[in-house]
Amino acid sequence: MLLMNVEQYQENSWKILCDFDGTISLQDTTDVLLENFADQGWEEIEQLWEQGEIGSKECMQRQIALLNVTKEKLEALVHQIEIDESFIDFVKAAKKLGIPLTIVSDGLDIVIRHILAKYNLRHVPVIANQLEQVSEHRWQLHFPNATKICKSQSGTCKCKVSQTQHKQYKTILIGDGRSDFCLSEEADYVYAKKSLLKHCQDNNIKHVPFSTFTELTKTLDQFVGLPQLDAKVHV
Ligand SMILES: [Mg+2]
Ligand SMILES: [Zn+2]
Repeated sequence: MLLMNVEQYQENSWKILCDFDGTISLQDTTDVLLENFADQGWEEIEQLWEQGEIGSKECMQRQIALLNVTKEKLEALVHQIEIDESFIDFVKAAKKLGIPLTIVSDGLDIVIRHILAKYNLRHVPVIANQLEQVSEHRWQLHFPNATKICKSQSGTCKCKVSQTQHKQYKTILIGDGRSDFCLSEEADYVYAKKSLLKHCQDNNIKHVPFSTFTELTKTLDQFVGLPQLDAKVHV
């Protein structure tokens, strides 16, 4: 009985695809790792990306190949990275409303999962680039969600994820930066901060500015056409 109620509304249902670095985490986790552990040359690669000479996939692939750090040291640093803690209540609110939430990131999967675990958010699904340890000090990045046609040439094309993950649902994008640009043009609803906010303003993309998840939690119930949800939504 409970499940049927949810299914009735799926045609008009929404899903949330949420960026991680700078949106949930306070710092960009890849930048923190590179600043601390990369061999020389990563900043030059970053410049090529900033100038538009290479896409983010190539940028990340080359930078991660410069990481020179053991798993223990990498995890110890990652453990210090903090998130916007109002994300925790946002996750609960989305679950209560039956809105599926997926973290979609052009960052590093095991790094994100490590940080989420620290905040008891291990259950939140993550789609990101796959970081693999290839020797005691060396790492390699894999891109199972890349596409040749991605406008941003991202490692993880968020447009592709939007088309495959709960594809019958409308998309709410939450993001802060360049990895969100491609999906911001296609998403049904965009919450934006920092450079994504500017991108939306410059390109006439409808969006809602935000700074913390506290603001977003307050507005989430607009996506569900039911005034009283507690008893009806099976989660
Ligand atoms: Mg970001
Ligand atoms: Zn894309």
